[in-house]
Amino acid sequence: MYPPNFDYVAPSSLDEALAALAGAENAKILSGGMSLIPLMKMRLVRPTLVVDISRIPGLDEVTDDGDHITIGAMVRHATTASHPLVQEHASALAEAASCTADLQVRNRGTTCGSLAHADVAADQPAAALALNATMHAASVRGTREIAAADFFVDTLTSALAPDEILTKVTIPKGGSSTYRKLGRRGGNSDYPIAAAAVWVDVSNGSVSAARIAVTGVSSTPYLAVGSAQALIGSDGSADAIAAAASHATDGVNVLEDLYGTVAFRTHLADLYVRRALEDVLA
Ligand SMILES: Cc1cc2nc3c(=O)[nH]c(=O)nc-3n(C[C@H](O)[C@H](O)[C@H](O)COP(=O)(O)OP(=O)(O)OC[C@H]3O[C@@H](n4cnc5c(N)ncnc54)[C@H](O)[C@@H]3O)c2cc1C
Repeated sequence: MYPPNFDYVAPSSLDEALAALAGAENAKILSGGMSLIPLMKMRLVRPTLVVDISRIPGLDEVTDDGDHITIGAMVRHATTASHPLVQEHASALAEAASCTADLQVRNRGTTCGSLAHADVAADQPAAALALNATMHAASVRGTREIAAADFFVDTLTSALAPDEILTKVTIPKGGSSTYRKLGRRGGNSDYPIAAAAVWVDVSNGSVSAARIAVTGVSSTPYLAVGSAQALIGSDGSADAIAAAASHATDGVNVLEDLYGTVAFRTHLADLYVRRALEDVLA
């Protein structure tokens, strides 16, 4: 199906893009188009203006900025997956990007697009939560920072205002992280039925800090706070990991759909948190 008619602009500067968004009533930002275009073709979204940000220079870089790394708005999944800085300082995100969709989608879709899209079962939002990422939003009103923990509001709903562009995401260095998932078709290159991103810091043989995020299981990716609390201060043994994983869905409204019952998803959340913790603490 063809999308309804819309106007299209491809600004060559961020200021131009922000001005276009500010002056429009029903505009959508286009980055990789891997989610927006299908939604438009299915007529689930009907923007009157599409603002393509792919021609704005400087948005496609991953940079080392001292105590954190920065991933620009137009960094594609394939770059996030293979970039040495992401692999070294944010391996959960590199791994989540490497198993996002198929190669063709990874070559077009962007990490920031995936975060902004806020799909229930997207891979990279979980990694952003576990890594304590900060989202940087810009509009004609100025810029603001949003912690990942406050960013994923509901199904396909982020904390961004309609006229805000997610210009970059920054990730603090330190600790170790990983991502483990069960894809819908059994492998990894598909949306997860359930997946976990974990980040830990270990000192003197005990877990001094941890963040554990789960995706695919509820209406939004979330931090499993009970799991992290159970792990912190432990020796990271198999028993400690199992105890932490058992809290993976505490206080969460677990989804039921064609891919899994509440009981199956609850089991998978526990299992994939456990597997991810076993890997990162091995
Ligand atoms: C066949 C297929 C399989 C897929 N499998 C997976 C999978 O296994 N795991 C997974 O996580 N995802 C999967 N996806 C989704 C894919 O990862 C998308 O690339 C991603 O969700 C959106 O990134 P994009 O750059 O393509 O964004 P777009 O499609 O361009 O935009 C998506 C939405 O985010 C908004 N947006 C985009 N960029 C910004 C920005 N910088 N600031 C503010 N708003 C912005 C747009 O306005 C739109 O509402 C799949 C997609 C396809 C087509």
